[in-house]
Amino acid sequence: MRLSRYFLPVLKENPSEAQIVSHRLMLRAGMIKQASAGIYSWLPLGFKVLRKIENIVHEEQARAGHMPMLMPTIQSAELWRESGRYDAYGAEMLRFKDRHDRDMLFTPTAEELITDIFRANVSSYKDLPLTMYQIQWKFRDEIRPRFGVMRGREFLMKDGYNFDLTKEDALHAYNRHLVTYLRTYERMGLQAIPMRADSGPIGGDDTHEFLVLAETGESEVFYDSAVTDLKFGDREIDYDSVEDCAAVMEEFTDKYARTDETHDAALFEQVPEDRRRVARGIEVGQIFYFGTKYSEPLGAVVQGPDGKQVPVHMGSHGIGVSRLLGAIIEANHDENGIIWPEGVTPFHVGIVNLRQGDEATDGACEALYKALKAKGFDPLYDDRDERAGGKFAAMDLIGLPWRITVGPRGLKNGVVELTSRRTGESVELTAEAAVDRIA
Ligand code: ATP
Ligand code: MG
Ligand code: MG
Ligand code: MG
Repeated sequence: MRLSRYFLPVLKENPSEAQIVSHRLMLRAGMIKQASAGIYSWLPLGFKVLRKIENIVHEEQARAGHMPMLMPTIQSAELWRESGRYDAYGAEMLRFKDRHDRDMLFTPTAEELITDIFRANVSSYKDLPLTMYQIQWKFRDEIRPRFGVMRGREFLMKDGYNFDLTKEDALHAYNRHLVTYLRTYERMGLQAIPMRADSGPIGGDDTHEFLVLAETGESEVFYDSAVTDLKFGDREIDYDSVEDCAAVMEEFTDKYARTDETHDAALFEQVPEDRRRVARGIEVGQIFYFGTKYSEPLGAVVQGPDGKQVPVHMGSHGIGVSRLLGAIIEANHDENGIIWPEGVTPFHVGIVNLRQGDEATDGACEALYKALKAKGFDPLYDDRDERAGGKFAAMDLIGLPWRITVGPRGLKNGVVELTSRRTGESVELTAEAAVDRIA
């Protein structure tokens, strides 16, 4: 992409409405624009990162055999009356009527909808286990939308649902989701710690939230510092193996890590004092096992191996896809701007032309741009007629992992400059060597 043709409305000044750094940087880097309170348009740069995050989520769900699907954003109130949640859900649910005076709502979560799909189509244990998920916009009329996409009213969520014959099978699905989530967050350059949590309006006893530690997080968390040493890494895992998934669950949840809702001061005391931590975190996901809470009232039953009709055991699992942009920036920035982790960066590398209009420099930049594309990279070429200082500031702000600076002086010696956004280190080398180094 050539920056002269890209839509990147960068702001020079700090927007006064943004209280936290990720919100400030997303506005300044021209990633989002507020449409109304807690509702955002995604401009090309922000949308590009959102899509990268979605892709990682899809790939990790596919790895575990979970099936993507899509349900509507608008639902009728009927199913929610059947499950008993219509009155219980409260003011966060946006309710309205259609022209025929029917009660409608904007989906805040989709347990009822998917259970209805299940009950209409599945009647035998032989069709289990089954896990389907979607990445779809949700609406919750949050009392205090704030911090940009972190607490929006409209937000993008991955929500997945498992249907199993027994509690044991459903707990395997729970553990399997924990594994997929650990991999998902790590690929985005994030450490998200599973913590025992409260289930809220989804219901059920077994639930873990995934928290990214950050001072600006809205949750208070208590944990044993040993949990921060755990890494999933690139280990191979058999998602169908009950033992494999249970072992990961055990490893990642046997140490003390809880949100304030479930915090137990007496248990926390048992953690060695030098490892006790009280901090703040951003909730980027949550997994639930809630048994037959929805299958019973909605009649999602199957015939078991013994011929008896039994309600299925279910769980649901959410990832805050749009919130993740904020969380990633909170964890990866400096005073000059964003520092994208490689896995989610909107472009791999930026090319800065120091003398736009100079024939040799323009030619070298064009050649470099083509060479990078030929190698499968997605470069952003700053070909604007701007001062070098302004170009560097824009590149630092949007935070691509690599910058290649091309100017007449270097070219005389046959070199360009390759700079790492994260370390700030620069090296001079030939354009070919710079392309090779980026891989
Ligand atoms: P919170 O405690 O932050 O209100 P939640 O527990 O109500 O979140 P869940 O029902 O667990 O949310 O939804 C799954 C995920 O969706 C959350 O872990 C979070 O990452 C994301 N999410 C929830 N509410 C919002 C919101 N208002 N804006 C952006 N993301 C959200
Ligand atoms: Mg909430
Ligand atoms: Mg929560
Ligand atoms: Mg939650």
